[in-house]
This record gives sequence, C-alpha cells and structure tokens, in this order.
Amino acid sequence: MQASAQAKAKGIVFDIQKFSVNDGPGVRTAVFLKGCQMKCVWCHNPESLSVRKQLSFSQQKCVGCRSCEQACPKGVHTFDAAGNHLVDFGNCDACGLCVDACMHDALKIYGKEMTVDQVFAEVIKDKVYFDKSRGGLTLSGGEALKQFDFSLALAKKCKENGLHVCIETNGASKPEHYRAIAPYVDLFLFDYKATGDKTHKALTGLPRRLVDDNLKLLEQINAAVILRCPIIPGYNLSEQHLEAIARLAESMGNIQKVELLPYHNFGKGKAAEIGREYDVEADIPADEDVQNWLAKVRSYGEVNVTLS
Ligand code: SF4
Ligand code: SF4
Repeated sequence: MQASAQAKAKGIVFDIQKFSVNDGPGVRTAVFLKGCQMKCVWCHNPESLSVRKQLSFSQQKCVGCRSCEQACPKGVHTFDAAGNHLVDFGNCDACGLCVDACMHDALKIYGKEMTVDQVFAEVIKDKVYFDKSRGGLTLSGGEALKQFDFSLALAKKCKENGLHVCIETNGASKPEHYRAIAPYVDLFLFDYKATGDKTHKALTGLPRRLVDDNLKLLEQINAAVILRCPIIPGYNLSEQHLEAIARLAESMGNIQKVELLPYHNFGKGKAAEIGREYDVEADIPADEDVQNWLAKVRSYGEVNVTLS
C-alpha cells in the first residue's frame, strides 16, 4: 500500500483509552477495534465481537421520554402497555438518529469509522508520557488483526514516529498477518485461553491448533511475547491448565512473562445493553484464590508470572 493510501485506510474503532496501565509496559493509549473471530463465553468486551457499528441502550439511564421512538425510522424503539422500553436490536442499522434525540445519555453507538491519521493524531498527543514511562500504543479489540490493513498501517505509522507498539491478540489470525506486522510490533500480548483442543473449541469457538501454530511462528521469528491468561473458575481453571501455562512459558525463550487475568463480570452489563445473551455463571475469585493460582504456576518452574 502507498503511504498516502495507508494514512487514509479506515478502521472501525469502538474505544480509545488513554493512560492505560494494564495493556503493556508503561503508560499507553489502547485503541480498541471491532471484530473478533472467537466467541469466548466470558468475553469482557461483547461490544467488540461484531465488526459492524451497533446500538447500546442503558435501561438505568432511560427516563421513558420516548424521543427515540419518534426519531427512529426503523421502529426499533417501542413501549409496551406497562411503559417498558423494548429495543429491537436486530432491526437497527446504527444510523445514530435516536442517539442524537436522547437527552439522557441512555443510547450510544459502539464503533466509529476513523482513518489511520485520525487515530494516530490522538495517540501521538501523549508521546511525552510514553517517553517518560516507556509506554506507547496498544492495538486491541476484539481482535486487532481482524482489521489487518488498518492495524498494519497504524502500527507502521507509530513505529515510523518512534512509538513503542504492542498488539493484544487472541492468536487466531492468519499466520501471514503475524509475519507481516511483526517488524512494526515491539511486543505481542498473546492470549492463552484454554488447554486442550476440545476445551478450547468449546469455550472460544475455535480449536487450539491454529493458536499454537501462531505462537510457534512468533518464537521462530523471535518476536517478544507476554502470555495473557484469563482464568475463569468453572470454565478453564484446572491444575492441568495452570501447569500447561507454566510449561509453555518455560519452553519458549521469547515469552518474557505470564500475566493471569482473574475473571470479572464487566461483560455482563455490556452484553445486556447490546441485546446479547451472557450465560457465564462464574464466581469472582477471592484474593486468596488468585494468590494460590500464582503460586501454583510458579511451582511448576522458573516462570515470571504476575497479575494483570
Ligand atoms: S440507531 Fe437508527 S436505526 Fe438504530 S434504533 Fe437508533 S434511530 Fe433506529
Ligand atoms: S430518548 Fe433516551 S431517555 Fe428517552 S425513552 Fe429513548 S432511550 Fe429513554
């Protein structure tokens, strides 16, 4: 792609979080892109799964004024006899007219089309903080590589301007995409979600094999990796899983560190607001449990493991 075409490449961004300290080293700006190939049952960003823009409705903020009902040309907003606000998400084309009509901040659209230059302009504003803390840009999602051309162009532009670049990835993108973007990425934050092909497929919708192959590929090209492991009691948590995490980290020289991500249920409320089911019945782990997981992983070898 020519440089001018790269700058104009567009992505669907659903959030830009500044001063993030949990998405790689130092202070970072995390850019969240829509679209993901996996369907993890515990997904904490359900608004990222679809690559398309989508409507979100907060029942808590709604005062029932019905302005949205009048604004919507598709009849998405209706009210039953008891005054309950019903939202037909499937009929919404995310035009945003109802969002503009709502004076109570109860409606929003997840997903905004932005060019590489527009996102870069936001990111570069905080270069002074990145330089002081050895931080930079983190591309996240969803799965950032699902919008590959955009991610590649943005990573390139940031590298050309001296920024540190991380990518959070579920590991399930095309091998050629990892190869192509690796020269512009300082650190891959690579998910390890479940041990065993069957369990991985049941919990994420995709087999482990592809993810393992991509992890090996990153080892072959000596790309730096932090292994990020969401731990969901009752779903992927087992002695076998904690041991597999430790053994994997010990066996690959390019894995700098393991980060355990204890379950939280932030995805539950967001799923309801976009009309998605959320069936996870996991308990939020106690501090003592989390410390036991860390100790367990360390007991299997010389592994640098922390929480994230
Ligand atoms: S975003 Fe557009 S189509 Fe969707 S509910 Fe609002 S007004 Fe209707
Ligand atoms: S315009 Fe906003 S506050 Fe009014 S009914 Fe619609 S969502 Fe609720």
